[in-house]
Amino acid sequence: MTHRIVLIPGDGIGPEVAAATRVVLDAADVGIEWIEMPAGAGALETHGALLPHETLDAIRDCRVAIKGPITTPVGTGFRSINVALRQDLDLFAAIRPARSLPGVPTRHAGVDLVIVRENTEDLYQGIEFERGSEEAAALRRRLHEIGGFELKEDAGVTLKPISVTGAHRIVRFAFEYARANRRRHITVGHKANVMRFSDGIFLEAAEEDAPDFPDITMDEIQIDHLSAKLARGPEDFDVLLLPNLYGDIISDLCAGLVGGLGLIPGANIGWEYAVFEAVHGSAPDIAGQQKANPVAMILSGAMMLRHLGELEAADNVQWGVDETLRKGEVRTPDLGGTATTMAFAEAIAAESVAWEHGPS
Ligand code: NAD
Repeated sequence: MTHRIVLIPGDGIGPEVAAATRVVLDAADVGIEWIEMPAGAGALETHGALLPHETLDAIRDCRVAIKGPITTPVGTGFRSINVALRQDLDLFAAIRPARSLPGVPTRHAGVDLVIVRENTEDLYQGIEFERGSEEAAALRRRLHEIGGFELKEDAGVTLKPISVTGAHRIVRFAFEYARANRRRHITVGHKANVMRFSDGIFLEAAEEDAPDFPDITMDEIQIDHLSAKLARGPEDFDVLLLPNLYGDIISDLCAGLVGGLGLIPGANIGWEYAVFEAVHGSAPDIAGQQKANPVAMILSGAMMLRHLGELEAADNVQWGVDETLRKGEVRTPDLGGTATTMAFAEAIAAESVAWEHGPS
């Protein structure tokens, strides 16, 4: 076997879309050895942890994992598993492509953009001061002392740190990613005119590093203006480079522009490890019924193949998805069909294998 890959089936529809993805990636025949590991609500019952340390160790050992969606139990005090994975494995870059798919009617055609989002800093770093707490009161006093800032007594506060080191590593990652994936242009989204000391650092890092990549052009745009332009003409963009919060919001906006979360793949990547996953959740309303659309996780699998250097196999899988959607004969209920999750995956696997011998 050439590649040892951790497979985390997850909760809800996770095991169904994971099994479907496995069928397609096995058909690609690149020698994957699957190491199946638990995480999620199921793991909490069997291992007493949402993210058992055996699972983390396996990812550290194999370096690459693909995961199904996970149900985050509400109000149990557990860290979200996605946050835990990001922090424990330092997966500082989130990548979300948004591409128009054949046979999926949407307002805009010809969209083919990729969002590179910083994954660890910004308002999502988790530095918060609860309204009315001792800590918030101390912060209020200190802010008054050091800068004469007036915080309302009933204010809660979330901090927005963006560091020079954190900004440079995501900027360089985005340029390297663009180069490796034959992309030509990066658009940096920010609000540096208002948040000079946080977004300002992000923008400066991009402007400083861009000259090291003369084959990739770069421009910058304020995030509100970017939103308006995306709503009008998403097909005009190539790579969007964004800090954490804007990246999260714009990713879902772009998913909506090309047909919804059920079709969108994703990756969380650091210098050492990579975890691929569909963007949608565990869909408890349709779990166990073979109604789930497996495309998002299968396309995450294609991203994983590309990451592993299996470029031809990645193209084949992507072709298999496109061709199956284009023909429109086999599709799950969310796309107006009646096929099961597994039947859809088998059709995709058959198309991707046929493509290996050239288009018919
Ligand atoms: P969801 O994405 O699970 O479901 C939203 C709607 O989309 C549902 O009607 C569902 O049936 C439908 N849907 C989602 N994926 C689909 C697919 N592949 N095929 C067909 N239909 C699909 O979002 P939610 O209901 O807000 O969240 C459910 C659970 O998933 C929560 O516990 C949440 O925490 C978790 N979640 C996990 C992840 C992750 O692990 N990456 C991401 C988002 C939500």
